[in-house]
Amino acid sequence: MFDHPSFDQHERVVYAHDAATGLRAIVAIHSTARGPAAGGCRFWHYNSTHDALADALRLSRGMSYKNAMAGLPLGGGKAVVMVDPSQPKTPLMLEAFGRFVDSLHGLYITAEDVGASVADMEIVATRTRYVSGLPRTAVSSDGNPSPKTALGVYLGIKAAVKYKLNKDELRGLTVSVQGLGGVGFELCKLLAADGVRLRVADVREAVAQKASHQFDAAVSAPDKILFERADVVAPCALGAIFDANTIPKLQTTIIAGAANNQLATAEDGARLHAAGVLYAPDYVINAGGIISVGREYLGGATAESITAEIHRIPVRLTEIFARSSATNRPTSDLADEMARQLLTEAR
Ligand code: NAD
Repeated sequence: MFDHPSFDQHERVVYAHDAATGLRAIVAIHSTARGPAAGGCRFWHYNSTHDALADALRLSRGMSYKNAMAGLPLGGGKAVVMVDPSQPKTPLMLEAFGRFVDSLHGLYITAEDVGASVADMEIVATRTRYVSGLPRTAVSSDGNPSPKTALGVYLGIKAAVKYKLNKDELRGLTVSVQGLGGVGFELCKLLAADGVRLRVADVREAVAQKASHQFDAAVSAPDKILFERADVVAPCALGAIFDANTIPKLQTTIIAGAANNQLATAEDGARLHAAGVLYAPDYVINAGGIISVGREYLGGATAESITAEIHRIPVRLTEIFARSSATNRPTSDLADEMARQLLTEAR
């Protein structure tokens, strides 16, 4: 594992197998320098253990960076559970996962991620207290982080528009939103209320039509929307969408959206920069959800204090934008550098 290309000074990587339930899981703890390693658990069908390990290593480091840049007293970790498509996850498997998390005595705090629901976390929580994202402990509403993530992205878009286009208002601008799920749809609500002209796309046609009616939005094809002329492109669906093939096709100067891991490789940040596109680093702009879930776990927060923390996202982004202009370096490189610096200081 120490020779794995995605290994990056991870503190601990733990494997668990439970023969009775078929659980096969990996918890990667990248850093606990700033606090317990927080990050969701992903239930996914991996082709190999090697692929699952790569995901756990990469995602856990991403959580260290995200939590550090969000100013949270939390480290970074991630769990992946290797799902067999012929064997759906069961309550007993979730309990076994809960026991696994508990065996780490709070070094790792889990929450829902791709393939896991709030209801699943309720079952995990019967076996461990090191879990967040639960309705009964949420500070506000139902514990769903998506509206908080959408608020941070909305504020981040305003900061990017102010920086790049020198406009204080979004009214009259065109924003393209790819993906109208928990985050994308909420984002549309906030943008529409500001008088933004929306362009939307989703592989679920009915959702796109709903957004079209509700927000008077133009509907685009899911594979075309990123490349249509817009003041801002807000990816809220998939990752790895910006690469050497797609970047030359862009007709926008601002990318600011919620999707995780938008850049296919680190070099694509430099490509966007060279193309004159202002890129809001994904893990900085999409931190609203982890701020909400993290504060829920840590305790002592109020709905107001969480909202105030989310309002610091645009401040951090503007600092990154200014450093990028001053040094002529990609925003993505600068964000990584700032995150690594925060981790080094904490160590
Ligand atoms: P979601 O699953 O609720 O929504 C994703 C939407 O994208 C769905 O409506 C889906 O149909 C659509 N979609 C999938 N492929 C598409 C494509 N090729 N073109 C257009 N639409 C497509 O997910 P979400 O919670 O809204 O999260 C969106 C993104 O933001 C994800 O990348 C997620 O990792 C990231 N993110 C979410 C949160 C959060 O709080 N939910 C926090 C940080 C990052």
